[in-house]
Amino acid sequence: MIRLEQLNKVYQLGGEPVQALDHVDLSIDAGEYLSVMGPSGSGKSTLLNMLGLLDTPDSGRYWLDEREMTALSEEGRAAERNRHIGFVFQAYHLIDRLSARENIELPLVLNGTAPAERKPAVGALLERLGLSHHADHLPHQLSGGQRQRVAIARAVIRKPRLLLADEPTGNLDSHSGRDVIELLEELNAEGITLVMVTHDASMGARAHRRLWMQDGCLLKDERHAPG
Ligand code: ADP
Ligand code: ADP
Repeated sequence: MIRLEQLNKVYQLGGEPVQALDHVDLSIDAGEYLSVMGPSGSGKSTLLNMLGLLDTPDSGRYWLDEREMTALSEEGRAAERNRHIGFVFQAYHLIDRLSARENIELPLVLNGTAPAERKPAVGALLERLGLSHHADHLPHQLSGGQRQRVAIARAVIRKPRLLLADEPTGNLDSHSGRDVIELLEELNAEGITLVMVTHDASMGARAHRRLWMQDGCLLKDERHAPG
C-alpha cells in the first residue's frame, strides 16, 4: 500500500541544517498496525507528516497504492489526503465553537456530502463511540478522553484507508489513554492501516510492528505479535 524510498528531509534550525529524515526506506501493507518510537527530535513527527502528505521530502519517493505522491502538486496531495488519510493529534485540534456532532460532521460538509447522508453517518459513529449523550456538547464540556474520541471520529468519518496518530494519548491519563488506544485498535481490526507515534513504550509495544527512529534514521523494524 505504501512504499517510501530513500526519503530525505533537512530543516534549517537557527542556520544549522538538521537531517530530520535520513534515507528512510519503508514499506507498509494495507491493514498493518505500526508504532513509531524513538527519542524526541528523532524524526517521528516528520515521518508521520510525510506519510500524511502534510510535508514534502527534499529527495526520495513515496508511492501510495502504486501512485507516486512525490510527483503530485499541492492540490493533488490535498485531494489524496482528503480521500485516503485521517489524522489524530495529541492536542485534539477540535473546533471550539462547534459541538461534538458538528466537529465530526465537518469533513462531510467540506466534501459536499448531502445532509440526508451526513446525519445517519454521524449518528452511527457517535453511538458506536459512546458519545451520543455528548453530541451537543462543546469541546470544553468534554473530558480529554471524550475529546480525543471525537477527534478520532472526525478522522474516520470519511472512511480513510490510512489513520495517522501522533502521540494520541499524550495528554491523557492512563485510563482514558487505554480507551483511546483500544478504539484505534478496533478501527485497525476492521481494516484501517494504523501508524502511531508514541514515546510510551507500553503503548508502542501493543503494535504488530514497531519502528525505532534515531537522528532521522530508521534504526529498527520489528515484527512480532504484541505482548
Ligand atoms: P520527533 O517527532 O521525533 O520529536 P520531529 O520529526 O518533530 O521529531 O523533528 C525532527 C528534527 O527536525 C528535530 O531536530 C526538529 O527540531 C526538526 N524539525 C522538525 N520540524 C521542523 C521545522 N518545521 N522546522 C525546523 N526544524 C524542524
Ligand atoms: P512532537 O512532540 O511530535 O515532537 P513537536 O512539538 O516537536 O512535536 O513539533 C510539533 C510540530 O512542529 C511538528 O509538526 C514539527 O514538524 C514542527 N517542529 C518541530 N520542531 C520544530 C522546530 N525546531 N522549528 C519549527 N517547527 C518545528
